[in-house]
Amino acid sequence: MLIVMQETSSDLELARVCDRVAAMGGAAECRRPLGVIVTVRPDDLDVTELAGLPGVSSVQPSAPGYWLASRRCHPRDTVIEVRGRRIGGDEPPVLMAGPCAVESEDQLLRSAEAAMEAGAQLLRGGAYKPRTSPYAFQGLGEAGLELLARVRDRLGIPIVTELRDAATLELFLAYDMDVLQIGARNMQNFEILHRAGAAGRPILLKRSPAASVDEWLMAAEYVLLAGNPQVMLCERGVLPPASVSTRYQLDIAAIPIARRRSHLPVIADPSHAAGNREYVIPLAEAAAAAGAHGLLVEVHADPAQALCDGPQALTPAMARELGQRLRSYGDRPCLAGPVPLRPVSGRRVTR
Ligand code: PEP
Ligand code: MN
Repeated sequence: MLIVMQETSSDLELARVCDRVAAMGGAAECRRPLGVIVTVRPDDLDVTELAGLPGVSSVQPSAPGYWLASRRCHPRDTVIEVRGRRIGGDEPPVLMAGPCAVESEDQLLRSAEAAMEAGAQLLRGGAYKPRTSPYAFQGLGEAGLELLARVRDRLGIPIVTELRDAATLELFLAYDMDVLQIGARNMQNFEILHRAGAAGRPILLKRSPAASVDEWLMAAEYVLLAGNPQVMLCERGVLPPASVSTRYQLDIAAIPIARRRSHLPVIADPSHAAGNREYVIPLAEAAAAAGAHGLLVEVHADPAQALCDGPQALTPAMARELGQRLRSYGDRPCLAGPVPLRPVSGRRVTR
C-alpha cells in the first residue's frame, strides 16, 4: 500500500497517519522528509479511513513500481530549466553536444565551439569515463571537471557530465556542474541514484541497454523520491538483435512510450546507439520526430584523434548539418504538447 501525502501536509499530519497505521496493526515507513509517500505493510488496512485522514492526498491499495515519475501522480509535463535553457513540455528539442571525453583544454574548447556553432545549448563531456576495458582512457578526473567549468565560464554554455561514482559527487558540486549524467551502466546503482537525488541538481538518467521502460522509470523514481524533481530520461539504445549492425539499437518507440507513462523530459542519444557517425543524423531526426525533448550527441573537433568513441563523433561540419535539420523540428510537427493519457491500443499516436 502506498499513502501519498499532500505536498502541503505537515509533519504532525504525517505522524498521525503513521500512528493510525500502527494502531491498525500495520507498519509505516516514511520515504521523504515531508512524508509524500509512506509504504505500509500489511496491504489490507482500511483504505477509506486512511484516505480520509488530514493531509492525505491518495491511497494506492497496492504500491505501483513508480508513482512520482508517473502521469497519474503528475499529469502535466515537467519542464527543467538549466541556466535559462528550458527542456521538456512543448519546448523545441534542445541539442546537448560535445565530445565523449574531456581530453585537453584545446580539444574541449574547439569541440565546444563546433557544438555551439551547430546550435548546442548545453555542452556534454565526460571527466570520469566508464570504460569496458580497464586499459582504455578513463578520463582526466578532477582536472576534466576543472576544464569543463573553465570552458563553461568562457563560452557561457552549461555542462552535462557523467557522475560515475557516488564518492565524487562533492567534487561535481564544487565545480558547479550543471547537469549530472547517470550513465547506462549505473542506471540501477541505487547509491548514485539516491545521492544524486539528494544533491538537487538536474539529472540526465540514461536507460540501461537491458532495461524495460518501466525499469528505467523505477530508477527515476529513486531520484524523485530522494527529493529531486529535475530528472531527464535519456534513451541511448538497447541490446540489438544479431541482425542489427549498429552498436546498440535506438529504441524509438520508447520515446513516446516514456512520454505517455511519465511527465519527465525524454532525451535521445543517437551517438551511442549508432556507434558510427554515418547513422547519427538519421537517428537523431527519427528521435526528434518521435517527440524527443532533446538530443545528446557526440561532436569532436577532430574525431580521428579522439581518445574515446571517435568513430561515432560527428565532425564539426556534420554537427552543423544536424543542427540545421533539427531546427525544422522546433515546432514539433509530429508530436506537440503532452502525450494524451489514453492507453496504447495499437493505433498510431496522433494529436
Ligand atoms: C557517454 O555518454 O559517454 C556514455 C558513456 O554513455 P552510456 O552510459 O550511454 O554508455
Ligand atoms: Mn561516449
